[in-house]
Amino acid sequence: MATYQLAQEALAAEFAARWAEALAAVEARQLAGSLTELETAYTAAIRESAAASYTLSVAFYRLVRALETGRVIGGPGYRPGASLGSLWADFNKATGKRTGSGPREVLPVDIRNPFPAADPAREARRAEESFRHQVADRVAAHERERPAREGSAALDDAELVAWEKEFLESLKTGGSGAGGMLVQDAGRDAVHLALQDDPGAIGYFRATDASPCYFCALMAGRGAVYKSKRTAAFGAHPHCHCQAVPIFSRRYRLATENDRFARMWREFGGGSLADWRTYYARNQ
Ligand SMILES: [Zn+2]
Repeated sequence: MATYQLAQEALAAEFAARWAEALAAVEARQLAGSLTELETAYTAAIRESAAASYTLSVAFYRLVRALETGRVIGGPGYRPGASLGSLWADFNKATGKRTGSGPREVLPVDIRNPFPAADPAREARRAEESFRHQVADRVAAHERERPAREGSAALDDAELVAWEKEFLESLKTGGSGAGGMLVQDAGRDAVHLALQDDPGAIGYFRATDASPCYFCALMAGRGAVYKSKRTAAFGAHPHCHCQAVPIFSRRYRLATENDRFARMWREFGGGSLADWRTYYARNQ
């Protein structure tokens, strides 16, 4: 469902904008002295957007399940007396858009909570680790390099400014990729773990953005992944906007991208992953 995928992508973008804003408030030379403020901004922005991602995913899962099975599932956000109308309203609220509506008839309920509980301590640890890799460690390395740069007669002021600017830019990109992954993982994990624990779910498929990387395109082209005891991890990466769309019956419909990548894969005709990468880059 495109609305869902786009809404998750928008949450990652919202995080990226807040991170860019936090960075823009700091001069390159003040970075080392501003790490505490930057970390607070980074982790708070992740926490808030991740909470929204989780809520959105639960509303999406519950809606898709009700549309395909005619039954409501319990868990966070469940309210007695739920109908297709109220589930659409919850989903619309989480996406910030009005995308659908349904009848007010009360649906039968499966009292079960398949959704993973929020684990704030674990999430905080992941955000801190991400900040250390993407920002703190790299600022430290940058600081170690600065005296040599400044002492070098070969570099003029403009080149030094460009060097600082490029570094800030790389912090922006690296932070938005890694932080955006954590934001969307909150929702992706909610769906991926819920379907393992929900006897009503039979699998999922991968909904990508319009131009995913070659690896995600390959995974999406495979279509439905049926649930098994060993359903592999979803496998997202930084700057990846793929989402798992749960499936509850064999009558599911794939997104147009899945069909497009499946066709490309058939036309590719086989070969190594590296061959596919080249083929995909040329034909995308
Ligand atoms: Zn992806």
